[in-house]
Amino acid sequence: MAKYDFDLFVIGAGSGGVRAARLAAQAGKKVAVAEESRPGGTCVVRGCVPKKFLVYGADYGDAIKKAAGYGWSVDNIKFDWPKLRDAIQSEVSRLSGIYSGIMDKNGVTHFKERAEFKDAHTLVLKNSGKEITAHTILIAVGGRPWSPDLPGVEHTITSDEAFLLGKLPEKMLIVGGGYIASEFAGIFAGLGVKVTQNYRGNALLRGFDEDVRSKVAEVQDLNGITLKFGSSPKEIKKTEGGYIVTMDDGTKIGTDLVMMATGRKPHTVGLGLDNAGVKTDDNGAVIVDKYSQSSVKNIYAVGDVTNRVNLTPVAIREGAAFVDTFVHGNKTAYDHSNIASAVFTRPPVGTVGVGEGEARKAGRDIHVYTTSFNPMANALSGSKQRVFMKIITEGDNEKVIGVHMVGDEAGEIIQGIGIAVKAGLTKAQFDETCAVHPTIAEELVTMKTKQPNKVVTKD
Ligand code: NDP
Repeated sequence: MAKYDFDLFVIGAGSGGVRAARLAAQAGKKVAVAEESRPGGTCVVRGCVPKKFLVYGADYGDAIKKAAGYGWSVDNIKFDWPKLRDAIQSEVSRLSGIYSGIMDKNGVTHFKERAEFKDAHTLVLKNSGKEITAHTILIAVGGRPWSPDLPGVEHTITSDEAFLLGKLPEKMLIVGGGYIASEFAGIFAGLGVKVTQNYRGNALLRGFDEDVRSKVAEVQDLNGITLKFGSSPKEIKKTEGGYIVTMDDGTKIGTDLVMMATGRKPHTVGLGLDNAGVKTDDNGAVIVDKYSQSSVKNIYAVGDVTNRVNLTPVAIREGAAFVDTFVHGNKTAYDHSNIASAVFTRPPVGTVGVGEGEARKAGRDIHVYTTSFNPMANALSGSKQRVFMKIITEGDNEKVIGVHMVGDEAGEIIQGIGIAVKAGLTKAQFDETCAVHPTIAEELVTMKTKQPNKVVTKD
């Protein structure tokens, strides 16, 4: 009889966990997955996928208005929130079903309940009380929204609830200056809500290129979002019709709904990691080496629970690299450099490689090219949203080490450019590439003017 019930036990049926489970099962391993919620994880159930549908929803509204300049009659347009919300939820259910199907088709045992560690090889299933043993365990439990513990925080929502609102508020305060706050501010403003986005710093999207950060503020402003910088909520009080939020600068904001988008934390509380001896950092993230191996030899972790680069495609690659290491004995570390990503503000941000400030701080010998222009479609639509692009090169051969963009289709464009940056191409090779005309993207192969060196100080 086998020493363990399973060769591999995966906790969490999100992007990273399901990819690893499927690949390991296809390679002949006996695999189980435990999931306390719906299969699909944050991305499918309450993240990237429903969020992108909301972005499309808001963009269609804009497109209808812009269509007037192209000869269409656009009077009496109406928006039906429950219709969009429910359509998104039924698509989410379909996709979640596909995740279940992937596990079933590949012979992966799916426990629809929470699993916690009893020791390094034993898990307890919380509903049934069953104890299951496994040779190797993969922690892929992801993260969950985190809010500061301030008076009245129980009155607020997070992104988890934002998808399920009974009705849209008239006014909304979104707290945070990161990915989720900036994206949801754009979505709700596009759906007709009067949005205030509050950030404690002085420029949104900390960690991004400084010019991108300024441009995103312009984007939000043009979308009618009120930006309130340099303060944070101190207290939230419920009133008859809504909420009064007292800020730490003394101002008060009256609103119908408060959404906290103040970050996410690894979902490790109560997982019994101590019982297994798995070490975590101050944020609760499982500490792993480059092969995703934790402090305990037979326990690995991938995805947001490790708080490395918290993006779905990264979790998937980490899951696949883990299977190469665990199943095939081929020690594989996923290379986290030059990962392209997008922030789905409206229009979005696309970015790959280093930002200008980061490169200058590191004393790198860089050259910077930028352009800002009114895209062709605006001539007739009347939209004021411009396109901004920046290329950062390094050294005498001008290898491209960063490309940043804010503007229509930035998410799509940066995927292609990501290949060029990952491949280590030079600015001369960008310039040798013939333009596709007339497009927005063609500007990336026609940028000629180097910007003078400047000191970047924003933090
Ligand atoms: P982020 O880390 O991007 O942003 C959190 C924001 O909350 C920051 O502006 C932060 O400020 C602010 N904040 C933190 N603590 C407090 C506090 N106590 N009071 C007030 N403000 C506070 O987290 P998100 O939750 O937006 O996103 C989590 C991760 O999910 C992202 O990092 C990203 O990896 C991923 N994601 C990716 C998306 C995509 O690819 N398009 C979309 C959504 C999420 P400060 O900057 O000063 O720390």
